[in-house]
Amino acid sequence: MKYGIIGYSGRMGQSIEKIFSQAGHELVYQKDENGEKELEKPELIIDFSLKEAFPETVRVIKEKEIPLIIGTTGLDEGDFKQLNQLAEKVAVIQSFNFSIGINILSELVTKIDKYIDQDWDIEISETHHRFKKDKPSGTAIMLSELIDRDIEMHSKRLGSEFGEHEVYFASTGEVLTLKHRAYSREAFTKGVLLSAEKILDLKPGFYSFKDILTN
Ligand code: NAD
Repeated sequence: MKYGIIGYSGRMGQSIEKIFSQAGHELVYQKDENGEKELEKPELIIDFSLKEAFPETVRVIKEKEIPLIIGTTGLDEGDFKQLNQLAEKVAVIQSFNFSIGINILSELVTKIDKYIDQDWDIEISETHHRFKKDKPSGTAIMLSELIDRDIEMHSKRLGSEFGEHEVYFASTGEVLTLKHRAYSREAFTKGVLLSAEKILDLKPGFYSFKDILTN
């Protein structure tokens, strides 16, 4: 497939290009904070950039009318409204975490939440590399939104950690911990590749990565 990346020069953009070229896909459009370069019209756009780039991403998708895969974190309610508007015309796959492990972990969180009452404490801890700008991580926010109460979140920014999330459930007698750790960016880029290989067959609409994994 012929694809484009917004956030091309970033850590995720570079990892995505590597795994996509190994799979035989052709990068024909690239955009970052220094400008854009288009060799041919892409069949889809992948956005792993920053929230600041989002208005431009919306413009590009409206102009080209092609599907979008977006993993950029820090998006707010207004941004999601715009993603939903785009999804009326094209397929949009959005996730704050494209790893298979975190998507399994989120299923487990929902399941555990059914067994416990208000007497249990629930807290989330996340650690990422020192360059990550948003805090708490989009994944920690996504996990907290699965549970219908205020959750305390703890964030650490350390060295080159790719992404670690822990969810603690504790009563006065016991503690249960779910933990996920990404060893490399491949944890996410494999999920992006899987999404890209499915998106061209999808009807316009808003999809999560979980929809892609389970269908
Ligand atoms: P990075 O800082 O290394 O790269 C950011 C990229 O965005 C750069 O190429 C930069 O030039 C570009 N950019 C910045 N401002 C821009 C603008 N106004 N217009 C166009 N491009 C612009 O960041 P990263 O580590 O590659 O992460 C990128 C995003 O992906 C972050 O939001 C991060 O939280 C998110 N992320 C998501 C997942 C997931 O699974 N959903 C996994 C890892 C990272």
